[in-house]
Amino acid sequence: MAQKGFLINSAECTGCKACELACKDVHSFEIGPRARIVREVCGGGWTVDEKTGACTPAQVFSYSVSYSCGHCENPACVEVCPTGAHHKDEETGIVSITADDCIGCQSCVKACPYGAPQFVEAKTITEKCDMCAELQAHGEEPACVAICPQRALKIGDIDELRAEYGDVRDIQPLPDSAQTEPNVVIVAHRNGRAAADDDWRMLSLEQ
Ligand code: SF4
Ligand code: SF4
Ligand code: SF4
Repeated sequence: MAQKGFLINSAECTGCKACELACKDVHSFEIGPRARIVREVCGGGWTVDEKTGACTPAQVFSYSVSYSCGHCENPACVEVCPTGAHHKDEETGIVSITADDCIGCQSCVKACPYGAPQFVEAKTITEKCDMCAELQAHGEEPACVAICPQRALKIGDIDELRAEYGDVRDIQPLPDSAQTEPNVVIVAHRNGRAAADDDWRMLSLEQ
């Protein structure tokens, strides 16, 4: 199997959310569900002058991480699906949901640590990123990849992406990748951390 994966270049991402909107558009999602979510992370602190009380910003930073389904090696979503609607393709490794087989039980929604499966109330089924398999079948890039003005997203053979960009899969505010082993490569922003620490005051925003 030639596993496909995503490159997520957080160092180049401006947080414009064009990828989020393009994804919603291609899937005709209504308000609410998002198969791709741009998470913003900001943090830092300030120093206080004891004499004057003046505050000076210190180590202030912000960056964005655009994330969808990671088409994981150990997809928790597939394991819990009672109907087999959630499945991993043997040739591409893409994880997707067959709409006709989904009963809307939301077991996958609860099982995925990334919040990737989205319950669509209007249809009473769950939908998620399928790496725009239909667009790819017609020789096109996924909608999120094609629209990104920074070229901060890319898809490809995960082994080739790792050979070119490294093997980082963890960055705050995402959960520990050891849980499901997503097929993603992250280029971390210079202020990105794999895990939160005491010296690093952080606020994660999802709007
Ligand atoms: S379109 Fe590109 S630059 Fe904009 S938020 Fe998405 S990944 Fe970041
Ligand atoms: S990110 Fe979530 S929905 Fe996607 S394959 Fe992994 S566990 Fe399943
Ligand atoms: S590959 Fe397609 S379905 Fe997946 S996040 Fe990008 S636009 Fe959405």
